[in-house]
Amino acid sequence: MIDYSLKGPVSQERARIRLMSALRENRFPQAILIDGPTGIGKKALAMEIAKALQCTDPAGRPCGHCFGCRMAAESGATENWIIPLEAAEARAKKAEDATARSTAKTIEDIKQDYIKEIIKNPYRVDIFSAAAFISVELMRTMTSSFAMRGDRVRTVIIAEADRMNEAASNAFLKTLEDVPPDTYFILTTSSREKMLQTIRSRCLALHLLPLTDDEVQKEAARVADEDFDRTMLTDDVVGMAVGSPGKALYYAPLCEQWNPLAVDFIRKSLLQDYTDLFFALKEASLEDPYVANRFLEVMSFLVADLLRELGGAPLRMPTTTASIGLKNFPRIDATALELALVDIQETMSRIESRRATTTMSLQTLALKLFEGYK
Ligand SMILES: [Zn+2]
Repeated sequence: MIDYSLKGPVSQERARIRLMSALRENRFPQAILIDGPTGIGKKALAMEIAKALQCTDPAGRPCGHCFGCRMAAESGATENWIIPLEAAEARAKKAEDATARSTAKTIEDIKQDYIKEIIKNPYRVDIFSAAAFISVELMRTMTSSFAMRGDRVRTVIIAEADRMNEAASNAFLKTLEDVPPDTYFILTTSSREKMLQTIRSRCLALHLLPLTDDEVQKEAARVADEDFDRTMLTDDVVGMAVGSPGKALYYAPLCEQWNPLAVDFIRKSLLQDYTDLFFALKEASLEDPYVANRFLEVMSFLVADLLRELGGAPLRMPTTTASIGLKNFPRIDATALELALVDIQETMSRIESRRATTTMSLQTLALKLFEGYK
């Protein structure tokens, strides 16, 4: 009897227990889809599963040192991964910008760089550019590599599987209809609803839970770069991360600038002091839609925290929220705050769909926020 032991945070133990019993009973599904919020460790779990499946140790898997285990934790094994990439033209353009000389890398080189990053910090949330997608070519390269598989177990991790375009989705569906023996697919996504229903229904669904605040603190500190200042992982940062070490690491260096700006945004739009606010927003370089929406997320946390303050509940970002001084704005009630949350949410979708420029959208939000309560 082979024993399987998958490692990971305690909060996600239930998911691992389910996987381990499937492994022990030799009924592991050929395709699983791990979903859950961004930055909580879906890729980390996928790599742990890949090791367990590929491991050849006769007693305890994953052993961590056999060929199969090493292949699952090795950036050179690019055939074990499908990741979103930018279109060829965008990549070529970037290479051109980087140096005068052409330094165009092959797809394999690019993949290897990304995989190295993922192995180093599987929680990272901003690893792929917003325009990156999974193309049908990547799918075809994968299926053609099956012929050279040999007799070992092969796992393919499809990261951010919701980024498969239509052609890639259809190619993958075809692959799923006739999966080669000893081949396993592990898909991860934080936007399950964006995937084809036909793909979802062919994969075992595994929902991964966010971590506790203590676990976020520990995991973020563990995977962060050596020169990362760990004192930046304050209670407010961990509170904002809502169970995601990846988000904690993303917010940590921005907090010092963003949290006071979010406080300012709320205070100044209440005081109708727009000139200063618009200037501060301009200084903050929020033109990039992805970045702007991460900032608006901070705004949402702040407003949600004000709702907690009104209701007497414990705050997620105690220091930042207290600095608003809600008591100075007696007209602000729960309804005003709930409306503000809707306004922020709408601005985020406007920015995401690129219906207006980021600057315009943020200014419009400031004017609209707490309308009738100013
Ligand atoms: Zn092993």
